[in-house]
Amino acid sequence: MVEPDRIGDAAHIRAQALAKAGRPESDPAPVRVVRRSIDARARMPRFQLRVAVGGEERGASVFRPAAPGGKRAVVVGAGPGGYFAALTLLEAGIKPVLLERGRDVRSRLKDVKKIYSEGLIDPHSNYCFGEGGAGTYSDGKLYTRATKRGDVDRILDLFVSFGASDDIRVDAHPHLGSNVLPRIVRGMREAILAAGGEIHFGAHVSDLLLDGGRVRGVRLAGGESVEGDAVILATGHSARDVYQLLQRQGVRIEAKPFALGVRIEHPQALVDRMFYHQSPRHPALPAASYRLACQTAERGVFSFCMCPGGFVVPASTAPGELVLNGMSLASRGAPFANAGLVAEVRPDDVAERDPLALLRFQASVERDMFRAGDGTTQRAPAQRVPDFLAGRVSAALGRTSYIPGVYAAPLHELLPGFVARALREGLPILGAKHKGFDSAEATLLAVESRTSSPVRIPRDRETLMHPEVSGLFPCGEGAGYAGGIVSAAMDGVAVAEAVVRWGKK
Ligand SMILES: Cc1cc2nc3c(=O)[nH]c(=O)nc-3n(C[C@H](O)[C@H](O)[C@H](O)COP(=O)(O)OP(=O)(O)OC[C@H]3O[C@@H](n4cnc5c(N)ncnc54)[C@H](O)[C@@H]3O)c2cc1C
Repeated sequence: MVEPDRIGDAAHIRAQALAKAGRPESDPAPVRVVRRSIDARARMPRFQLRVAVGGEERGASVFRPAAPGGKRAVVVGAGPGGYFAALTLLEAGIKPVLLERGRDVRSRLKDVKKIYSEGLIDPHSNYCFGEGGAGTYSDGKLYTRATKRGDVDRILDLFVSFGASDDIRVDAHPHLGSNVLPRIVRGMREAILAAGGEIHFGAHVSDLLLDGGRVRGVRLAGGESVEGDAVILATGHSARDVYQLLQRQGVRIEAKPFALGVRIEHPQALVDRMFYHQSPRHPALPAASYRLACQTAERGVFSFCMCPGGFVVPASTAPGELVLNGMSLASRGAPFANAGLVAEVRPDDVAERDPLALLRFQASVERDMFRAGDGTTQRAPAQRVPDFLAGRVSAALGRTSYIPGVYAAPLHELLPGFVARALREGLPILGAKHKGFDSAEATLLAVESRTSSPVRIPRDRETLMHPEVSGLFPCGEGAGYAGGIVSAAMDGVAVAEAVVRWGKK
Protein backbone atom coordinates (compact mmCIF):
# COMPACT_ATOMS: atom_id res chain seq x y z
CA MET A 1 0.00 0.00 0.00
CA VAL A 2 1.31 3.46 -0.84
CA GLU A 3 -0.07 6.77 0.45
CA PRO A 4 -1.06 9.23 -2.32
CA ASP A 5 1.71 11.58 -1.12
CA ARG A 6 4.35 9.00 -2.03
CA ILE A 7 2.98 7.52 -5.25
CA GLY A 8 5.49 9.51 -7.30
CA ASP A 9 8.38 8.50 -5.04
CA ALA A 10 10.12 5.68 -6.94
CA ALA A 11 12.82 5.26 -4.26
CA HIS A 12 10.19 4.72 -1.55
CA ILE A 13 8.29 2.17 -3.67
CA ARG A 14 11.54 0.38 -4.46
CA ALA A 15 12.59 0.26 -0.80
CA GLN A 16 9.18 -1.09 0.25
CA ALA A 17 9.20 -3.75 -2.49
CA LEU A 18 12.72 -4.94 -1.63
CA ALA A 19 11.85 -5.12 2.07
CA LYS A 20 8.73 -7.14 1.33
CA ALA A 21 10.72 -9.52 -0.89
CA GLY A 22 13.24 -9.99 1.96
CA ARG A 23 16.06 -8.44 -0.08
CA PRO A 24 18.64 -5.91 1.12
CA GLU A 25 18.29 -2.24 0.16
CA SER A 26 21.48 -2.54 -1.87
CA ASP A 27 20.01 -5.26 -4.14
CA PRO A 28 20.41 -3.99 -7.75
CA ALA A 29 17.42 -6.02 -9.06
CA PRO A 30 15.00 -4.03 -11.24
CA VAL A 31 11.69 -3.20 -9.55
CA ARG A 32 8.56 -2.67 -11.68
CA VAL A 33 4.96 -1.81 -10.79
CA VAL A 34 2.83 -4.39 -12.62
CA ARG A 35 -0.60 -3.55 -11.17
CA ARG A 36 -1.98 -0.30 -9.73
CA SER A 37 -5.38 0.10 -8.11
CA ILE A 38 -6.94 2.29 -5.45
CA ASP A 39 -8.16 1.00 -2.12
CA ALA A 40 -10.78 3.55 -1.05
CA ARG A 41 -12.20 1.57 1.90
CA ALA A 42 -10.08 3.38 4.51
CA ARG A 43 -10.64 7.04 5.49
CA MET A 44 -7.61 7.96 3.40
CA PRO A 45 -7.61 6.16 0.03
CA ARG A 46 -4.32 4.51 -0.82
CA PHE A 47 -2.71 3.04 -3.90
CA GLN A 48 -2.43 -0.70 -3.92
CA LEU A 49 0.57 -1.78 -5.98
CA ARG A 50 1.72 -5.17 -7.19
CA VAL A 51 5.43 -4.93 -7.79
CA ALA A 52 7.78 -7.35 -9.54
CA VAL A 53 11.31 -7.56 -8.16
CA GLY A 54 13.83 -8.86 -10.68
CA GLY A 55 12.86 -10.92 -13.70
CA GLU A 56 12.20 -9.94 -17.27
CA GLU A 57 9.56 -7.46 -18.32
CA ARG A 58 6.62 -9.20 -20.01
CA GLY A 59 7.11 -8.83 -23.77
CA ALA A 60 4.37 -6.80 -25.41
CA SER A 61 2.85 -8.65 -28.37
CA VAL A 62 2.46 -6.51 -31.47
CA PHE A 63 0.66 -6.77 -34.79
CA ARG A 64 2.47 -9.16 -37.17
CA PRO A 65 0.78 -9.52 -40.56
CA ALA A 66 1.43 -12.69 -42.59
CA ALA A 67 1.97 -13.00 -46.32
CA PRO A 68 -1.42 -12.87 -48.14
CA GLY A 69 -2.82 -16.32 -48.94
CA GLY A 70 -5.44 -15.33 -51.57
CA LYS A 71 -8.55 -15.48 -49.37
CA ARG A 72 -10.66 -12.45 -48.44
CA ALA A 73 -13.30 -11.78 -45.84
CA VAL A 74 -15.81 -8.94 -45.78
CA VAL A 75 -15.86 -7.18 -42.41
CA VAL A 76 -18.85 -4.89 -41.85
CA GLY A 77 -18.24 -2.18 -39.25
CA ALA A 78 -15.02 -0.39 -38.23
CA GLY A 79 -15.60 -0.45 -34.46
CA PRO A 80 -13.31 -2.40 -32.10
CA GLY A 81 -14.98 -5.66 -33.19
CA GLY A 82 -14.35 -5.01 -36.89
CA TYR A 83 -10.86 -3.51 -36.55
CA PHE A 84 -9.50 -6.23 -34.26
CA ALA A 85 -11.08 -8.87 -36.54
CA ALA A 86 -9.31 -7.25 -39.52
CA LEU A 87 -5.94 -7.20 -37.71
CA THR A 88 -6.32 -10.88 -36.77
CA LEU A 89 -7.31 -11.90 -40.32
CA LEU A 90 -4.20 -10.16 -41.67
CA GLU A 91 -2.03 -12.10 -39.21
CA ALA A 92 -3.45 -15.28 -40.78
CA GLY A 93 -2.88 -14.09 -44.37
CA ILE A 94 -6.58 -13.38 -45.08
CA LYS A 95 -7.36 -10.02 -46.67
CA PRO A 96 -10.09 -8.07 -44.85
CA VAL A 97 -12.35 -5.81 -46.92
CA LEU A 98 -13.71 -3.47 -44.28
CA LEU A 99 -16.96 -1.64 -45.01
CA GLU A 100 -17.95 1.24 -42.75
CA ARG A 101 -21.08 3.35 -43.26
CA GLY A 102 -19.58 6.34 -41.46
CA ARG A 103 -16.61 8.57 -42.16
CA ASP A 104 -12.95 8.37 -41.13
CA VAL A 105 -12.29 9.37 -37.55
CA ARG A 106 -11.19 12.93 -38.38
CA SER A 107 -14.13 13.79 -40.66
CA ARG A 108 -16.44 12.15 -38.15
CA LEU A 109 -15.42 14.69 -35.52
CA LYS A 110 -16.87 17.45 -37.73
CA ASP A 111 -20.21 15.60 -37.83
CA VAL A 112 -20.14 15.16 -34.05
CA LYS A 113 -19.50 18.91 -33.69
CA LYS A 114 -22.53 19.65 -35.91
CA ILE A 115 -24.71 17.92 -33.34
CA TYR A 116 -23.72 20.72 -30.97
CA SER A 117 -23.64 23.64 -33.36
CA GLU A 118 -26.72 22.83 -35.47
CA GLY A 119 -28.54 20.06 -33.61
CA LEU A 120 -28.07 17.88 -36.72
CA ILE A 121 -27.77 14.09 -36.46
CA ASP A 122 -26.16 12.51 -39.53
CA PRO A 123 -27.57 8.94 -39.61
CA HIS A 124 -24.20 7.57 -40.81
CA SER A 125 -21.69 9.64 -38.85
CA ASN A 126 -22.34 10.47 -35.19
CA TYR A 127 -21.36 9.36 -31.66
CA CYS A 128 -22.11 5.71 -32.53
CA PHE A 129 -21.34 5.44 -36.27
CA GLY A 130 -18.08 6.06 -38.06
CA GLU A 131 -14.49 4.89 -37.91
CA GLY A 132 -13.57 3.52 -34.48
CA GLY A 133 -17.18 2.65 -33.69
CA ALA A 134 -19.29 3.67 -30.74
CA GLY A 135 -16.49 4.03 -28.22
CA THR A 136 -14.29 6.48 -30.13
CA TYR A 137 -15.61 9.66 -28.49
CA SER A 138 -16.14 8.02 -25.14
CA ASP A 139 -14.51 7.68 -21.76
CA GLY A 140 -12.45 4.91 -23.32
CA LYS A 141 -12.69 2.64 -20.31
CA LEU A 142 -10.69 -0.48 -21.09
CA TYR A 143 -11.83 -2.53 -18.17
CA THR A 144 -13.74 -5.75 -18.77
CA ARG A 145 -15.04 -8.48 -16.54
CA ALA A 146 -15.26 -10.86 -19.51
CA THR A 147 -11.68 -12.01 -18.95
CA LYS A 148 -12.46 -15.62 -19.86
CA ARG A 149 -13.61 -14.68 -23.35
CA GLY A 150 -10.16 -13.86 -24.65
CA ASP A 151 -6.71 -12.48 -24.05
CA VAL A 152 -7.20 -9.04 -22.46
CA ASP A 153 -3.41 -8.47 -22.23
CA ARG A 154 -3.06 -8.99 -25.97
CA ILE A 155 -5.77 -6.38 -26.67
CA LEU A 156 -4.11 -3.88 -24.32
CA ASP A 157 -0.70 -4.60 -25.89
CA LEU A 158 -2.12 -3.80 -29.31
CA PHE A 159 -3.64 -0.57 -28.02
CA VAL A 160 -0.19 0.37 -26.66
CA SER A 161 1.50 -0.54 -29.95
CA PHE A 162 -0.93 1.86 -31.71
CA GLY A 163 -0.13 4.73 -29.35
CA ALA A 164 -1.89 4.21 -25.98
CA SER A 165 0.07 4.92 -22.81
CA ASP A 166 1.84 1.96 -21.25
CA ASP A 167 -0.15 2.76 -18.07
CA ILE A 168 -3.13 0.82 -19.46
CA ARG A 169 -1.15 -2.39 -18.90
CA VAL A 170 -0.69 -1.50 -15.23
CA ASP A 171 -3.88 0.27 -14.12
CA ALA A 172 -6.58 -2.03 -12.76
CA HIS A 173 -9.21 0.22 -14.40
CA PRO A 174 -7.47 1.67 -17.43
CA HIS A 175 -9.04 4.33 -19.64
CA LEU A 176 -7.95 6.35 -22.65
CA GLY A 177 -10.26 9.36 -23.08
CA SER A 178 -11.82 10.78 -26.25
CA ASN A 179 -8.86 13.00 -27.03
CA VAL A 180 -6.56 9.94 -27.29
CA LEU A 181 -8.77 7.31 -28.95
CA PRO A 182 -8.96 8.89 -32.44
CA ARG A 183 -5.15 8.79 -32.77
CA ILE A 184 -5.10 5.09 -31.86
CA VAL A 185 -7.92 4.33 -34.30
CA ARG A 186 -5.97 6.10 -37.06
CA GLY A 187 -2.91 3.99 -36.19
CA MET A 188 -4.95 0.82 -36.58
CA ARG A 189 -6.31 1.96 -39.93
CA GLU A 190 -2.82 2.72 -41.22
CA ALA A 191 -1.56 -0.70 -40.07
CA ILE A 192 -4.46 -2.51 -41.76
CA LEU A 193 -3.93 -0.64 -45.04
CA ALA A 194 -0.14 -1.12 -44.95
CA ALA A 195 -0.64 -4.87 -44.48
CA GLY A 196 -2.85 -5.12 -47.59
CA GLY A 197 -6.34 -4.75 -46.10
CA GLU A 198 -8.99 -2.56 -47.72
CA ILE A 199 -11.09 0.00 -45.82
CA HIS A 200 -14.04 1.76 -47.44
CA PHE A 201 -15.81 4.60 -45.66
CA GLY A 202 -19.30 5.70 -46.64
CA ALA A 203 -19.96 2.03 -47.48
CA HIS A 204 -23.40 1.36 -46.07
CA VAL A 205 -24.29 -2.35 -46.22
CA SER A 206 -27.97 -2.78 -47.07
CA ASP A 207 -28.25 -6.51 -47.93
CA LEU A 208 -26.49 -9.82 -47.59
CA LEU A 209 -25.76 -11.75 -50.78
CA LEU A 210 -27.35 -15.07 -49.88
CA ASP A 211 -27.07 -18.18 -51.98
CA GLY A 212 -29.17 -20.91 -50.39
CA GLY A 213 -27.79 -21.38 -46.89
CA ARG A 214 -24.51 -19.60 -47.70
CA VAL A 215 -23.47 -15.94 -47.64
CA ARG A 216 -21.33 -14.82 -50.58
CA GLY A 217 -20.88 -11.18 -49.64
CA VAL A 218 -22.92 -8.02 -49.17
CA ARG A 219 -24.65 -5.35 -51.22
CA LEU A 220 -24.11 -1.66 -50.52
CA ALA A 221 -26.89 0.91 -50.42
CA GLY A 222 -25.60 2.27 -53.77
CA GLY A 223 -26.17 -1.16 -55.37
CA GLU A 224 -22.55 -2.34 -55.56
CA SER A 225 -21.79 -5.95 -54.51
CA VAL A 226 -18.77 -6.87 -52.41
CA GLU A 227 -17.93 -10.56 -52.32
CA GLY A 228 -15.85 -12.53 -49.85
CA ASP A 229 -15.25 -16.04 -48.55
CA ALA A 230 -16.80 -15.06 -45.23
CA VAL A 231 -18.77 -12.09 -43.85
CA ILE A 232 -18.10 -10.76 -40.34
CA LEU A 233 -21.02 -8.65 -39.17
CA ALA A 234 -19.70 -6.23 -36.52
CA THR A 235 -22.21 -3.41 -36.84
CA GLY A 236 -22.77 -2.49 -33.18
CA HIS A 237 -25.88 -2.10 -31.05
CA SER A 238 -27.32 0.89 -32.88
CA ALA A 239 -27.55 -0.44 -36.46
CA ARG A 240 -31.30 -0.99 -36.45
CA ASP A 241 -31.38 -1.30 -40.23
CA VAL A 242 -29.05 -4.31 -40.01
CA TYR A 243 -31.46 -6.21 -37.76
CA GLN A 244 -34.27 -5.23 -40.12
CA LEU A 245 -32.37 -6.47 -43.18
CA LEU A 246 -31.63 -9.78 -41.45
CA GLN A 247 -35.31 -10.23 -40.62
CA ARG A 248 -36.35 -9.24 -44.15
CA GLN A 249 -33.88 -11.73 -45.63
CA GLY A 250 -35.05 -14.56 -43.37
CA VAL A 251 -31.86 -14.75 -41.23
CA ARG A 252 -32.88 -15.78 -37.70
CA ILE A 253 -32.46 -13.16 -34.94
CA GLU A 254 -33.75 -13.12 -31.36
CA ALA A 255 -34.99 -10.49 -28.89
CA LYS A 256 -32.42 -9.91 -26.12
CA PRO A 257 -32.85 -8.23 -22.72
CA PHE A 258 -31.16 -4.86 -22.38
CA ALA A 259 -31.43 -1.96 -19.92
CA LEU A 260 -32.90 1.53 -20.04
CA GLY A 261 -33.04 4.53 -17.74
CA VAL A 262 -31.33 7.87 -17.26
CA ARG A 263 -27.91 9.50 -16.98
CA ILE A 264 -27.36 10.62 -13.41
CA GLU A 265 -24.97 13.51 -12.95
CA HIS A 266 -23.29 14.77 -9.76
CA PRO A 267 -20.58 17.32 -9.12
CA GLN A 268 -17.31 15.36 -9.21
CA ALA A 269 -16.46 16.86 -5.80
CA LEU A 270 -19.52 15.10 -4.32
CA VAL A 271 -18.51 11.78 -5.91
CA ASP A 272 -15.01 12.24 -4.46
CA ARG A 273 -16.61 12.81 -1.06
CA MET A 274 -18.83 9.73 -1.42
CA PHE A 275 -16.11 7.32 -2.50
CA TYR A 276 -12.84 8.85 -1.23
CA HIS A 277 -14.32 10.46 1.91
CA GLN A 278 -12.53 13.69 1.01
CA SER A 279 -13.04 16.80 -1.08
CA PRO A 280 -11.01 18.33 -2.53
CA ARG A 281 -9.39 15.00 -3.29
CA HIS A 282 -5.65 14.50 -2.96
CA PRO A 283 -4.03 15.75 -6.21
CA ALA A 284 -2.40 12.36 -6.81
CA LEU A 285 -5.76 10.59 -6.83
CA PRO A 286 -7.73 10.26 -10.07
CA ALA A 287 -11.36 11.47 -10.13
CA ALA A 288 -13.36 8.95 -8.07
CA SER A 289 -15.58 6.52 -9.95
CA TYR A 290 -18.22 4.01 -8.95
CA ARG A 291 -20.08 0.94 -10.09
CA LEU A 292 -23.34 0.40 -8.17
CA ALA A 293 -26.20 -2.07 -8.26
CA CYS A 294 -29.24 -2.90 -6.17
CA GLN A 295 -32.28 -5.10 -6.38
CA THR A 296 -35.80 -3.64 -6.35
CA ALA A 297 -39.07 -5.53 -6.04
CA GLU A 298 -39.48 -5.97 -9.79
CA ARG A 299 -35.98 -5.84 -11.27
CA GLY A 300 -32.32 -4.94 -10.88
CA VAL A 301 -31.12 -1.33 -11.09
CA PHE A 302 -27.48 -0.62 -11.85
CA SER A 303 -25.03 2.06 -12.89
CA PHE A 304 -23.59 1.80 -16.37
CA CYS A 305 -20.58 3.30 -18.15
CA MET A 306 -19.63 5.75 -15.41
CA CYS A 307 -17.59 8.74 -16.63
CA PRO A 308 -15.69 10.54 -13.84
CA GLY A 309 -14.78 14.14 -14.68
CA GLY A 310 -16.74 13.82 -17.90
CA PHE A 311 -19.63 15.03 -20.02
CA VAL A 312 -23.08 13.75 -20.91
CA VAL A 313 -23.26 13.57 -24.72
CA PRO A 314 -26.01 13.26 -27.36
CA ALA A 315 -25.58 9.74 -28.80
CA SER A 316 -28.64 9.69 -31.08
CA THR A 317 -28.16 7.96 -34.43
CA ALA A 318 -31.13 9.35 -36.36
CA PRO A 319 -33.03 12.63 -36.52
CA GLY A 320 -36.13 12.67 -34.33
CA GLU A 321 -34.70 10.66 -31.43
CA LEU A 322 -32.91 11.53 -28.22
CA VAL A 323 -30.27 9.22 -26.74
CA LEU A 324 -27.71 10.12 -24.08
CA ASN A 325 -24.35 8.61 -23.17
CA GLY A 326 -21.16 9.76 -21.47
CA MET A 327 -17.57 10.59 -22.33
CA SER A 328 -14.47 12.11 -20.80
CA LEU A 329 -11.03 13.32 -21.78
CA ALA A 330 -7.87 11.50 -20.72
CA SER A 331 -7.43 13.88 -17.76
CA ARG A 332 -11.00 13.31 -16.47
CA GLY A 333 -10.75 16.86 -15.24
CA ALA A 334 -14.27 18.19 -15.88
CA PRO A 335 -16.29 19.28 -12.82
CA PHE A 336 -19.08 16.68 -13.25
CA ALA A 337 -19.36 12.90 -13.01
CA ASN A 338 -22.07 11.04 -14.89
CA ALA A 339 -23.23 7.46 -15.24
CA GLY A 340 -26.12 5.57 -16.73
CA LEU A 341 -28.60 4.48 -14.07
CA VAL A 342 -30.72 1.84 -15.68
CA ALA A 343 -33.21 -0.96 -15.09
CA GLU A 344 -33.43 -4.28 -16.89
CA VAL A 345 -35.84 -4.53 -19.83
CA ARG A 346 -36.96 -8.09 -20.60
CA PRO A 347 -38.89 -9.54 -23.55
CA ASP A 348 -41.96 -10.07 -21.31
CA ASP A 349 -42.07 -6.31 -20.58
CA VAL A 350 -43.59 -5.70 -24.00
CA ALA A 351 -46.77 -7.17 -25.45
CA GLU A 352 -45.36 -8.13 -28.86
CA ARG A 353 -43.62 -11.45 -29.38
CA ASP A 354 -41.27 -10.62 -32.21
CA PRO A 355 -37.45 -10.55 -32.43
CA LEU A 356 -37.63 -6.80 -33.03
CA ALA A 357 -40.19 -6.04 -30.30
CA LEU A 358 -37.63 -4.74 -27.78
CA LEU A 359 -35.88 -2.72 -30.48
CA ARG A 360 -39.20 -1.03 -31.36
CA PHE A 361 -39.82 -0.37 -27.67
CA GLN A 362 -36.35 1.20 -27.30
CA ALA A 363 -36.90 3.35 -30.41
CA SER A 364 -40.33 4.52 -29.26
CA VAL A 365 -38.96 5.70 -25.88
CA GLU A 366 -36.18 7.63 -27.67
CA ARG A 367 -38.73 9.30 -30.01
CA ASP A 368 -40.98 10.18 -27.06
CA MET A 369 -38.06 11.84 -25.28
CA PHE A 370 -37.25 13.87 -28.38
CA ARG A 371 -40.86 14.96 -28.83
CA ALA A 372 -41.18 15.89 -25.15
CA GLY A 373 -38.94 18.87 -25.87
CA ASP A 374 -39.32 21.42 -28.63
CA GLY A 375 -39.12 18.63 -31.20
CA THR A 376 -36.19 20.19 -33.03
CA THR A 377 -33.10 19.99 -30.83
CA GLN A 378 -31.12 17.54 -28.72
CA ARG A 379 -32.02 19.41 -25.50
CA ALA A 380 -32.66 16.82 -22.82
CA PRO A 381 -35.46 16.54 -20.28
CA ALA A 382 -34.04 16.64 -16.76
CA GLN A 383 -35.11 16.50 -13.12
CA ARG A 384 -33.39 16.75 -9.78
CA VAL A 385 -33.44 13.43 -7.92
CA PRO A 386 -35.61 14.54 -4.92
CA ASP A 387 -38.18 15.92 -7.40
CA PHE A 388 -38.15 12.67 -9.38
CA LEU A 389 -38.75 10.76 -6.16
CA ALA A 390 -41.54 13.15 -5.10
CA GLY A 391 -43.13 13.12 -8.57
CA ARG A 392 -42.90 16.86 -9.30
CA VAL A 393 -41.20 18.88 -12.02
CA SER A 394 -38.06 20.64 -10.73
CA ALA A 395 -38.60 24.35 -10.12
CA ALA A 396 -35.00 24.99 -11.15
CA LEU A 397 -32.20 22.82 -12.47
CA GLY A 398 -28.56 23.06 -11.50
CA ARG A 399 -25.69 23.25 -13.98
CA THR A 400 -24.99 20.14 -16.05
CA SER A 401 -22.22 19.17 -18.45
CA TYR A 402 -24.68 18.48 -21.28
CA ILE A 403 -23.83 21.08 -23.92
CA PRO A 404 -27.12 21.04 -25.96
CA GLY A 405 -28.89 22.05 -22.72
CA VAL A 406 -31.61 20.67 -20.44
CA TYR A 407 -35.14 21.66 -19.49
CA ALA A 408 -37.22 20.71 -16.45
CA ALA A 409 -39.55 17.80 -17.24
CA PRO A 410 -41.52 15.08 -15.40
CA LEU A 411 -39.18 12.13 -16.02
CA HIS A 412 -41.29 10.11 -13.57
CA GLU A 413 -44.04 10.28 -16.23
CA LEU A 414 -41.94 10.33 -19.40
CA LEU A 415 -40.02 7.14 -18.64
CA PRO A 416 -41.80 3.80 -19.14
CA GLY A 417 -43.72 3.06 -15.92
CA PHE A 418 -41.75 -0.03 -14.90
CA VAL A 419 -38.43 1.78 -15.42
CA ALA A 420 -39.57 4.84 -13.41
CA ARG A 421 -40.81 2.55 -10.59
CA ALA A 422 -37.52 0.66 -10.43
CA LEU A 423 -35.46 3.88 -10.39
CA ARG A 424 -37.69 5.47 -7.73
CA GLU A 425 -37.18 2.42 -5.55
CA GLY A 426 -33.49 1.99 -6.36
CA LEU A 427 -32.28 5.56 -5.86
CA PRO A 428 -33.02 5.70 -2.09
CA ILE A 429 -31.39 2.27 -1.64
CA LEU A 430 -28.21 3.56 -3.30
CA GLY A 431 -28.50 6.89 -1.46
CA ALA A 432 -28.67 5.08 1.89
CA LYS A 433 -25.32 3.44 1.15
CA HIS A 434 -23.64 6.46 -0.46
CA LYS A 435 -24.63 9.72 1.19
CA GLY A 436 -25.49 12.34 -1.41
CA PHE A 437 -26.14 9.96 -4.29
CA ASP A 438 -29.88 10.75 -4.24
CA SER A 439 -29.52 14.35 -3.04
CA ALA A 440 -30.64 17.59 -4.72
CA GLU A 441 -27.13 17.87 -6.16
CA ALA A 442 -27.93 14.89 -8.39
CA THR A 443 -29.64 15.56 -11.73
CA LEU A 444 -31.28 12.95 -13.95
CA LEU A 445 -31.19 13.41 -17.75
CA ALA A 446 -33.05 11.19 -20.21
CA VAL A 447 -32.78 8.84 -21.88
CA GLU A 448 -30.02 6.26 -21.52
CA SER A 449 -31.20 3.50 -23.84
CA ARG A 450 -28.24 2.11 -25.81
CA THR A 451 -26.77 0.04 -23.01
CA SER A 452 -26.51 -3.07 -25.14
CA SER A 453 -28.24 -4.54 -28.14
CA PRO A 454 -31.95 -5.39 -27.80
CA VAL A 455 -31.40 -8.12 -30.41
CA ARG A 456 -29.11 -11.14 -30.56
CA ILE A 457 -27.86 -12.68 -33.80
CA PRO A 458 -27.45 -16.35 -32.92
CA ARG A 459 -24.23 -18.21 -33.58
CA ASP A 460 -22.91 -21.72 -33.04
CA ARG A 461 -20.78 -22.00 -29.86
CA GLU A 462 -17.96 -23.85 -31.63
CA THR A 463 -17.84 -22.35 -35.12
CA LEU A 464 -19.08 -18.85 -34.07
CA MET A 465 -21.05 -18.92 -37.33
CA HIS A 466 -24.76 -18.27 -37.71
CA PRO A 467 -26.38 -21.73 -37.28
CA GLU A 468 -28.30 -21.48 -40.54
CA VAL A 469 -26.11 -19.28 -42.74
CA SER A 470 -22.75 -20.73 -43.62
CA GLY A 471 -19.99 -18.11 -43.78
CA LEU A 472 -21.87 -15.49 -41.72
CA PHE A 473 -20.04 -14.57 -38.49
CA PRO A 474 -22.01 -12.28 -36.13
CA CYS A 475 -19.52 -10.29 -34.04
CA GLY A 476 -19.27 -7.86 -31.15
CA GLU A 477 -21.85 -5.88 -29.25
CA GLY A 478 -24.43 -5.65 -32.04
CA ALA A 479 -24.62 -9.41 -32.28
CA GLY A 480 -25.00 -9.67 -28.49
CA TYR A 481 -21.56 -11.12 -27.63
CA ALA A 482 -19.77 -8.12 -26.13
CA GLY A 483 -20.41 -5.09 -23.95
CA GLY A 484 -17.64 -2.55 -24.20
CA ILE A 485 -14.51 -1.74 -26.15
CA VAL A 486 -12.25 -4.52 -24.88
CA SER A 487 -14.85 -7.29 -24.99
CA ALA A 488 -15.84 -6.24 -28.53
CA ALA A 489 -12.17 -6.27 -29.54
CA MET A 490 -11.73 -9.74 -27.99
CA ASP A 491 -14.79 -10.94 -29.85
CA GLY A 492 -13.34 -9.56 -33.09
CA VAL A 493 -10.21 -11.62 -32.49
CA ALA A 494 -12.24 -14.75 -31.59
CA VAL A 495 -14.45 -14.45 -34.68
CA ALA A 496 -11.51 -13.85 -37.02
CA GLU A 497 -9.79 -16.94 -35.59
CA ALA A 498 -13.03 -18.86 -36.21
CA VAL A 499 -13.02 -17.65 -39.84
CA VAL A 500 -9.44 -18.91 -40.19
CA ARG A 501 -10.36 -22.34 -38.73
CA TRP A 502 -13.42 -22.57 -40.97
CA GLY A 503 -11.37 -21.66 -44.06
CA LYS A 504 -9.00 -24.56 -43.37
CA LYS A 505 -11.77 -27.17 -43.39
C1 LIG B 1 -20.65 7.73 -26.06
C2 LIG B 1 -20.24 6.30 -25.77
C3 LIG B 1 -19.35 6.05 -24.73
C4 LIG B 1 -18.90 4.75 -24.47
N1 LIG B 1 -17.95 4.56 -23.51
C5 LIG B 1 -17.38 3.35 -23.37
C6 LIG B 1 -16.28 3.16 -22.49
O1 LIG B 1 -15.80 4.09 -21.84
N2 LIG B 1 -15.76 1.90 -22.39
C7 LIG B 1 -16.27 0.85 -23.09
O2 LIG B 1 -15.74 -0.26 -22.95
N3 LIG B 1 -17.30 1.00 -23.91
C8 LIG B 1 -17.86 2.22 -24.10
N4 LIG B 1 -18.91 2.38 -24.96
C9 LIG B 1 -19.43 1.18 -25.63
C10 LIG B 1 -18.48 0.72 -26.74
O3 LIG B 1 -18.25 1.80 -27.59
C11 LIG B 1 -19.07 -0.44 -27.49
O4 LIG B 1 -19.30 -1.50 -26.59
C12 LIG B 1 -18.11 -0.95 -28.58
O5 LIG B 1 -17.74 0.11 -29.43
C13 LIG B 1 -18.77 -2.06 -29.39
O6 LIG B 1 -17.90 -2.41 -30.44
P1 LIG B 1 -18.43 -3.07 -31.78
O7 LIG B 1 -17.25 -3.15 -32.67
O8 LIG B 1 -19.15 -4.32 -31.46
O9 LIG B 1 -19.51 -2.06 -32.39
P2 LIG B 1 -19.41 -0.51 -32.68
O10 LIG B 1 -18.30 0.12 -31.96
O11 LIG B 1 -20.78 0.02 -32.44
O12 LIG B 1 -19.06 -0.42 -34.23
C14 LIG B 1 -19.97 -0.76 -35.22
C15 LIG B 1 -19.60 -0.03 -36.51
O13 LIG B 1 -20.41 -0.58 -37.55
C16 LIG B 1 -20.80 0.47 -38.41
N5 LIG B 1 -22.03 0.07 -39.11
C17 LIG B 1 -23.27 -0.09 -38.57
N6 LIG B 1 -24.15 -0.48 -39.52
C18 LIG B 1 -23.46 -0.57 -40.67
C19 LIG B 1 -23.83 -0.90 -41.99
N7 LIG B 1 -25.09 -1.25 -42.31
N8 LIG B 1 -22.87 -0.86 -42.96
C20 LIG B 1 -21.60 -0.51 -42.66
N9 LIG B 1 -21.19 -0.18 -41.42
C21 LIG B 1 -22.11 -0.22 -40.44
C22 LIG B 1 -21.01 1.65 -37.47
O14 LIG B 1 -20.91 2.87 -38.17
C23 LIG B 1 -19.90 1.46 -36.45
O15 LIG B 1 -18.74 2.18 -36.76
C24 LIG B 1 -19.40 3.66 -25.24
C25 LIG B 1 -20.33 3.90 -26.27
C26 LIG B 1 -20.74 5.20 -26.53
C27 LIG B 1 -21.74 5.45 -27.64
